[in-house]
Amino acid sequence: MRALVKAKPEPGLWMEERPVPVIGPDEVLIRVRKTGICGTDVHIWNWDDWAAKTVPVPLVTGHEFAGEIVEVGRDVEDLAVGQRCSGEGHLIGHHSRQVRAGRFHLDPETRGIGVNVAGAFADYLRLPAFNVVPLPDSIDDEIGAILDPLGNAVHTALSFDLVGEDVLVTGAGPIGIMAAAVARHVGARHVVITDVNPARLALAAEVADVVPVNVASEDLHQVMDRLKIVQGFDVGMEMSGAPAGFDQMVGAMVMGGRIAMLGIPPGRSPVDWSRIVFKALTIKGVYGREIFETWYKMIAMLENGLNIRRVITHRFPVARFAEGFAAMREGSSGKVVLDWG
Ligand code: ZN
Repeated sequence: MRALVKAKPEPGLWMEERPVPVIGPDEVLIRVRKTGICGTDVHIWNWDDWAAKTVPVPLVTGHEFAGEIVEVGRDVEDLAVGQRCSGEGHLIGHHSRQVRAGRFHLDPETRGIGVNVAGAFADYLRLPAFNVVPLPDSIDDEIGAILDPLGNAVHTALSFDLVGEDVLVTGAGPIGIMAAAVARHVGARHVVITDVNPARLALAAEVADVVPVNVASEDLHQVMDRLKIVQGFDVGMEMSGAPAGFDQMVGAMVMGGRIAMLGIPPGRSPVDWSRIVFKALTIKGVYGREIFETWYKMIAMLENGLNIRRVITHRFPVARFAEGFAAMREGSSGKVVLDWG
């Protein structure tokens, strides 16, 4: 089969011929139809410090996918050949206290497909049946291929009650944009999204009814005055990983406000903790998706009017994967989807 492989410890990915994976009794084999390129995949392409420390070479990369089950292991019940699906790319253990309490997404033994073990950028993917998420007919393969990052957005957005609240999203990458769209969908009053990249802010305004603010040229507090946000934002979602973005968010929050953080700041970034204490802010780190509550919620929302299709800005046949990665690295794309048809 074809597979996009991190074949050498240096920048790049290579299309190689690989054997079709052999599945175990609790696993299924999935014929991959569409995949999404993630920021994580760009780190792996670039072979930065994180990638060099984390990713074994050689490795089949990729974790955002949709496809169809073509083989089921002998102990698998409730799944059949022909079932369209996406799936949770975090493989969990069975030993930790968290898993045994049913908090699967908090398992410290989690391994990621395409990061620690063979991934989805291939004609065929082997996956535990437990991780499979069947797709209803209403969700096509390209949306199915971006449920993983939409899940990050949904997990972040649903961390706190948003009904009637004023929400600030810092960082208008694809996940920030989708989180802003989710906040609108579930009933936030105002959703303001900030960035310094005009193309990303324009995309945010196209995808959802949000207020884009370029903090390089606009004053956030003037925007708040215009929207009659008197005391500050009730809920913040930090998606940029930029220390300046988090700092501005803390300054713009209401007393007792709540912040969900998905963006990863570089190294040990300075934080003015006194403002967090005196504003009595709650900060929650967000990792992955709740398994499987986030999946349930996002499919329900997609079936009830949440529309994030326009966040997909580029589509390529997989033979042109290098163009897809170039679009990602250039920095103003939304989601890039590769077709394995
Ligand atoms: Zn991803």
